[in-house]
Amino acid sequence: RRCPAVRCSLAGDVVTAGRILKELKSGCATPLPVLRRVADAMADDMRAGLASDHSGSELKMILSYVDVLPTGNEKGLFYALDLGGTNFRVLRVQLGGKDNRVIDTEFEQVSIPRELMFGTSEELFDFIASGLARFVESESGIFHLPPERKREIGFTFSFPVNQTSIDSGILMKWTKGFAVSGTAGKDVVACLNEAMERQGLDMRVSALVNDTVGTLAGARYWDDDVMVAVILGTGTNACYIEQTDAIPKLQSLASGSGRTIINTEWGAFSDGLPLTEFDYDMDNESINPGEQIFEKTISGMYLGEIVRRVLLKMSKFSALFGNSVPEKLSTPFVLRTPDLCAMHQDDSRDLYEVGMRLGGIVGTTSSTLEARKVALEVIDTIVQRGGRLAGAGIVGILQKLEQDSRGLVFGKRTVVAMDGGLYENYPQYRNYLKGAVTELLGPELSKNVIIEHTKDGSGIGAALLAAVNSKYID
Ligand code: BGC
Ligand code: MG
Repeated sequence: RRCPAVRCSLAGDVVTAGRILKELKSGCATPLPVLRRVADAMADDMRAGLASDHSGSELKMILSYVDVLPTGNEKGLFYALDLGGTNFRVLRVQLGGKDNRVIDTEFEQVSIPRELMFGTSEELFDFIASGLARFVESESGIFHLPPERKREIGFTFSFPVNQTSIDSGILMKWTKGFAVSGTAGKDVVACLNEAMERQGLDMRVSALVNDTVGTLAGARYWDDDVMVAVILGTGTNACYIEQTDAIPKLQSLASGSGRTIINTEWGAFSDGLPLTEFDYDMDNESINPGEQIFEKTISGMYLGEIVRRVLLKMSKFSALFGNSVPEKLSTPFVLRTPDLCAMHQDDSRDLYEVGMRLGGIVGTTSSTLEARKVALEVIDTIVQRGGRLAGAGIVGILQKLEQDSRGLVFGKRTVVAMDGGLYENYPQYRNYLKGAVTELLGPELSKNVIIEHTKDGSGIGAALLAAVNSKYID
């Protein structure tokens, strides 16, 4: 079927939006062989990253130092602090042990002022510590801390950190648009401790965890079959439970349980991805060129931006939105993934919502129905590629685990815990992801693989890991 070509109103212009769309679709196509290639490459890169830190693998396969998972017996008051992409969250939870589990929980969320993403390390950590201090002050009588105890906190820090122990780790680099100076190469727990001291706040950070690790711990608290956790939000990442004897680079004695959580940092992956000129251009102009290519292809921060770039080209070369290019369409990141999502839900005949959004965000004075249809197809193309590639990544991890354990993954119920705004709020993305997993595994094997949303698991998970690693043993 031919794509609807939007006639160009500029004399002599032969490049139609239809042709750009056609090229885009073929460049972004993810038929089964492409998905398979990506899943296989993911599994290979995982092995290389586990073999050595100097293998050159894009996957860092970071040791989390989490080798004891919450059991359900955890008791007491614990805090969590979550610094991720868009928001910063604080949470407290009163854990009641086996029978009561979570007795009470409260949280607060603050969006991170944009200027702090480009400021200094001290400014960012001061902001976090002061938010935490205010939250601690509001603790009411329903929460209970035994005398002589410091409040303990699980710190979810959702960036690539080279863990040096369960409660320390060095920031390797910022991602997701953060460009804070002076943090890379430093221990982020020390940064937080210094800021807490400046605030006069006396708490003990007992666990430093990635958000994927927090999510895995939080989900596993309720369900023993959880093996993998994936975040699809502003950024993306996955972690999973690995056998210590499958980690050659872990030369020290195997841990007691023989298992540990590995943070893959899969956002850095790039092998075999179907990329287009729009991806290359976006990457080149990004603040971290050449880095986080999987993340730039599948995560929430970037989907809207890729679509904007396509629409801009169509608008320049085929007058998609009339004879002049709408001004705002040239502004990087004006089109956000939640906008795509809202337009994607529009099933009205005249694509009213699509027209409204294009008008409001991009500043098109009016758009023809044809132009709206094209915009919607561009959105669907980019979101489909993202969702399907995310699915292939998940299968890559499961496949690697299956090969090493001979049947222990697909032969029984295996749960993949999912979280992040993109996964949570974008139904088409979710469906494309699940569709790719089923296609790759086939109907039989995919029956045992449960892909499940764990809402806000990472906060509770971090608090649970703070409890597991508490210095006060009851
Ligand atoms: C970071 C990961 C994080 C993921 C999801 C990525 O940009 O590198 O550490 O888990 O975003 O928040
Ligand atoms: Mg987060």
